[in-house]
Amino acid sequence: MRARRDRAAKAAGGGGIGALLVSAGSDLTYLTGHRMHGSERLTCLVLGADGTATLVVPELEAPRARTNAPGVEVRTWGETDDPVALVAGLVPRGGSVAVDDRMWAAFVLKLQEALPDRAFVTSSAVVAALRMYKDAGEVAALRAVSAGADRAYARLRETAFEGRPEREVSAAIGELLRAEGHEEVGFAIVASGPNGASPHHLSADRVIAGGDAVVCDFGGTQGWYCSDITRTVHVGARPDAEIRRVHDAVLRAQDAGYRAAREGVEAQAVDAAARAVISDAGYGDFFIHRVGHGIGLDGHEHPYLVRGNAQRLEPGMCFSIEPGIYIPGRFGVRIEDIAYIDEHGHAQPLNGADRSLAIVS
Ligand code: ZN
Ligand code: ZN
Ligand code: ZN
Repeated sequence: MRARRDRAAKAAGGGGIGALLVSAGSDLTYLTGHRMHGSERLTCLVLGADGTATLVVPELEAPRARTNAPGVEVRTWGETDDPVALVAGLVPRGGSVAVDDRMWAAFVLKLQEALPDRAFVTSSAVVAALRMYKDAGEVAALRAVSAGADRAYARLRETAFEGRPEREVSAAIGELLRAEGHEEVGFAIVASGPNGASPHHLSADRVIAGGDAVVCDFGGTQGWYCSDITRTVHVGARPDAEIRRVHDAVLRAQDAGYRAAREGVEAQAVDAAARAVISDAGYGDFFIHRVGHGIGLDGHEHPYLVRGNAQRLEPGMCFSIEPGIYIPGRFGVRIEDIAYIDEHGHAQPLNGADRSLAIVS
């Protein structure tokens, strides 16, 4: 964490930034080890471009902060104190002030009032550029949590789908994730039949029927790192010809994404490679989202694999490759794995779950 703070401070200084103000969230975890959900009580790391680090926390969080963030000076504020004044007083002179992208507006506006002659920018340019490159420990954590999601999927395939409401299968996925080592369940999308045409469908009352294609997209965290996997299953032994054709196109699109993803290639090239396969199959209009997103402490983070992103892929980057085809009123298919760029510059899957159209009962 110390080395990460030093790198962040150096990058900040190089960009004319005097201090990074990092509020509760995954940037804070990345830089200090302290995990904290955002709330109306301000938590904020003040990281000066000179490398000095002070973590401002509500008094009741101090014991946890001191344990979690060794080597960082912890300053506390009581329930009736003004935490913004405390933070503003710690900001060194000179340079702009970079605030966490996810700092609450309520704090940002007060900080701007307290530091009226400073320019404010967002800190993501500095911290995201570091977080994109996973070290060996982070890749191991992502591999472990992805393997747990794979095991949960293997057990899900043995689960009955027909006749159950989506939300019941969704709850079952959550239990499987926990049973397979996840500490938190982030989401479990179960989108059956026509609901599958909505990529972020909210699983609800629809009763899953025989003949449905069912998109199952789920993930959570283990050791703070995120999993995210999607498989599409079919209820009953005889998927119709179009479901099979669409599933095959999505599978080939994902393969094309893997082949395109390597060191030195622009992130958008992975999207283009997968999209070309789907367009060639005649479904280009039905692939309505980018092909992937980075993953780490957050479920969605840089790099985003989307048209227009010229960020070059480098060893250590971890991201989803998740093409999909969504046919309104009928069904959807998505297949998603987490991939990483290995030390040789090749894309390797962190998920190993079977990708074929699974037949469930
Ligand atoms: Zn998503
Ligand atoms: Zn997903
Ligand atoms: Zn995803």
